[in-house]
Amino acid sequence: MPSDSVHVRAPGKINVYLGVGGRHDDGYHALATVFQAVSLFEDVIARPADDFSITVHGAEADAVPLDDRNLAMRAAKLLAAAADYHGGVALEIRKHVPVAGGMGGGSADAAAALVACDALWGTGFSQTRLHELAARLGADVPFSLHGGSAVGTGRGDQLNPALARGRFDWVLVTSHEGLSTPVVYEELDRLRDAEGALADDPAESLDVPIPVLQALRSGDAVQLAASLQNDLQAAAVHLRPDLEETIRQGVRAGALHGIVSGSGPTVALLCADSDTARSVRNTLQEDGREALQVYGPVPGARILV
Ligand code: ATP
Repeated sequence: MPSDSVHVRAPGKINVYLGVGGRHDDGYHALATVFQAVSLFEDVIARPADDFSITVHGAEADAVPLDDRNLAMRAAKLLAAAADYHGGVALEIRKHVPVAGGMGGGSADAAAALVACDALWGTGFSQTRLHELAARLGADVPFSLHGGSAVGTGRGDQLNPALARGRFDWVLVTSHEGLSTPVVYEELDRLRDAEGALADDPAESLDVPIPVLQALRSGDAVQLAASLQNDLQAAAVHLRPDLEETIRQGVRAGALHGIVSGSGPTVALLCADSDTARSVRNTLQEDGREALQVYGPVPGARILV
């Protein structure tokens, strides 16, 4: 790789807790979430160029737009505008996070592109400034910059670090068919209307339950397994009933508990330790499932040297 290129690695995420509140007038929902960055990474390589371009590699590359709909492209252009930089960049994305999988792969690409272009162009923006730009690109982008474990409120973009000890071992079961995040939120609204659920006051702030934070602090997988919660899960399962069976299959194979990751359809199975995770992964693979073993928390977007 030529020395004038910059290689950045950014993680995908699991929401170990995702509380979804009332819908705001602008269509967004109030969130209280706990993110954990996991060892499934996106690699973004930025090379000097006069114009802006993107190439994507990976099994699902065909599903990724190469124009201004690509979050990494939007990130590069936003940084260029903010820094008054008049050149371009050739971005190469090596995708490992499932596309439309509820693991924030596009957000990781955007976070990586911000860090890579900042270094390539010598912009020298502070973390705070990069975080502000990240929040304008999407609610999950600041977390991919940040990494580790964090509580997200507002739209998920107002971050506070969460203390976490040790490591948590997960098996991810991926699906070829993605789920669109807006469609899952619409389904949640529909289900809540149908149930006649009392609408939350959108202005009311949501809180993350204390046991989730305690489980992270103590590094106790059994306690975390008991506190996993995703308010989008019912909607995702309504659209994809097979996800419930995937969770049951994971628990039968030895996982402590499973959850739909974000808006799905990736299922995240929490395991007691890495040996158990390996065995769960192997059992699911023998059953013909696409299963990956990962761990968290891991750092956010970083330049590789
Ligand atoms: P979310 O952060 O909403 O949970 P997700 O992980 O479910 O997102 P992504 O893979 O990040 O899903 O992207 C969802 C859609 O966004 C894709 O179907 C694709 O059309 C578009 N997209 C834009 N930029 C990218 C990118 N760099 N990688 C993948 N998809 C992208």
